[in-house]
Parts: sequence; structure tokens; C-alpha cells
Amino acid sequence: MLLLNGKETAATIRARLKTEIAGLVEAHGRPPGLAVILVGEDAPSQVYVRNKERACADAGIASQTFRLPADTPQAELEGHIQDLNAREDIDGILLQLPLPTGLDSQRCLDLIDPAKDVDGFHPVNMGRLLLNLPGPKPCTPAGILTLLDHYGIDPAGKHCVIVGRSNIVGKPLAQLLLARHGTVTVCHSRTRDLPAITRQGDIVCVAIGRTGFLTPEMVKEGAVVVDVGINRTDDGLKGDADFDGLQDKVAAITPVPGGVGPMTIAQLLLNTLESYTARVQR
Ligand code: NDP
Repeated sequence: MLLLNGKETAATIRARLKTEIAGLVEAHGRPPGLAVILVGEDAPSQVYVRNKERACADAGIASQTFRLPADTPQAELEGHIQDLNAREDIDGILLQLPLPTGLDSQRCLDLIDPAKDVDGFHPVNMGRLLLNLPGPKPCTPAGILTLLDHYGIDPAGKHCVIVGRSNIVGKPLAQLLLARHGTVTVCHSRTRDLPAITRQGDIVCVAIGRTGFLTPEMVKEGAVVVDVGINRTDDGLKGDADFDGLQDKVAAITPVPGGVGPMTIAQLLLNTLESYTARVQR
């Protein structure tokens, strides 16, 4: 069984980016700038934002986090986004989701300048993804493709089964795998006889948010399993796949933690760098 080590792979990418960014700062006189907007007190979001801040600092990206109270009015939040759109020193804007109830996240995402949309969630960038045009790709799915590439796992011609159809993971992952010539099936909570479908998968990606959901009976011998889930349990962070049970059956699997999560952050740095490069060259 091959462990798809996202922590190690991400560290290699981050080291490369750090060197590249140091050179670019010399050439252009300023570091890449990332603005993170965090509204409210959602505990997992606080952790994600702290991890992103640390990764930016380490890579030489100037990150600024705007922490706003949960009762921030929609108009005020939109005003912040517009200010950041106009700022020359900001190359990327990330709105940490989920937003507290009462705030309209899609309206906010729509307002982010597509050229600064480092999460790739703006409808223009989602459309570009669908059309297979260049543009920022959502970090988790793009990180998964980078991880598969790192281990020489080519989706071309393979049956890729995705469980979960969210806008941030399942749907964009389906597009990226399709663009790489995978044969893609997307499953969700209304899918009938899910195990019969996951058992056909050469690559099975699970992103639903239920601890240990994907069991050995649901995959075929020699499959590759990508576990996107992050579930907080009394035993620490757990994925959506039954890692211990699957180990002896699969050809390769991502651990949780240390699999897809670190790749997501590495991809955010990459997207910020790409946005910066495009803007300083303009
Ligand atoms: P969402 O809650 O937005 O979507 C969950 C999806 O899973 C939905 O499409 C839902 O179907 C489907 N689903 C739920 N239950 C079942 C079931 N029993 N059988 C089949 N499908 C089911 O989740 P996200 O995509 O935002 O996140 C999924 C997981 O990935 C979470 O654990 C999250 O924490 C993690 N995550 C990890 C990241 C990382 O960096 N590693 C980044 C982002 C998320 P339906 O559409 O029908 O409701």
C-alpha cells in the first residue's frame, strides 16, 4: 500500500515557492499579498485561517487577516471586499467559509475581483474551469491532482468515482479529473446503491464529512482512495474513509491528517503567487 503523503509533498512545493518568491520580491520590490476575511467565531475556520497565515509567513507571502464580528452587516462585508479589490498590494482575496447565518456568501464571492480570486470560487473562474481555460482552480481539488501527479497516478482512462457534489470539492474535482481524461461519476446523498458504484472506481474520492464512511466493502481491490473529509472526533481528526480497514485492500490512500489538507494550503500559496505574477507583469 502506497501512502499518498500530502504533508511531505506540500512541504516540497512550499520550499520551492519560498525560493521563487524571494527572487520575485527582489525583482518587483514587494511580496505577494493575500487578504483573508474571517467573519464570526467558527472554530474550524479559526484553525484553517491560522494555518494559512503560518504557511504564508513561511513562504514570504504578506498575509493580512480581517477578523470581523459575526453580526457584521452584509453591506459592511461587501464594502471590505470592494476595498480589497482596489488595493494594489493585495493580489489574493480569500473569504473563509462558512459565513455566519444571515450573510449571503454567494453575493460576497460574486464581488471578489476574479483576478484576485485565489479560491477559484467566483462564477467566472468556475466557468473557466468548466471550459478548461486557464484561471485559478479551487484549492482542494487542484491540490488532489497535484498529489496524484506527484505519485505518478494518472487519471486518464480510469473510472474516478467522487462521493460528494459540493461547489468547493466534488464539482470542481469532477471537472479537473475530466480535463485529465478520467471517466467521472459523481455521487451524492440521493445516489442509489452507492457501494455498487464506488466498487467500480479505480480512483475513489470521498468528500462528505462523515467519519469512516468509506469501508473496505465499498472499494475494489487495488483502488486508489483520496480522503477529503476532516471530522473532529474524540480520537482527533478523522477522514471520511476507514483508513485502518482499507489499508490492506487499496493500492494507495491519503491519510487524515497529512493528506489532502496540506495540499489545499500549498495550492492556496500557488494560486496567490500566480495572481501576483500576473498582476506585477501587467
Ligand atoms: P458539503 O457538506 O458541502 O457537501 C457534502 C456532500 O456529501 C454533499 O454533496 C452531500 O450530498 C454528500 N453526502 C452527504 N452524505 C452522504 C451520503 N450518506 N452518501 C452520499 N453522499 C453524501 O461538504 P464539503 O464538500 O464542504 O466537505 C466535505 C468534507 O470535506 C468535510 O468533512 C469537510 O470538512 C472536508 N473538507 C476538507 C478540505 C481539505 O482541505 N481537506 C477542504 C474542504 C472540505 P447532497 O448534495 O445530496 O446533500
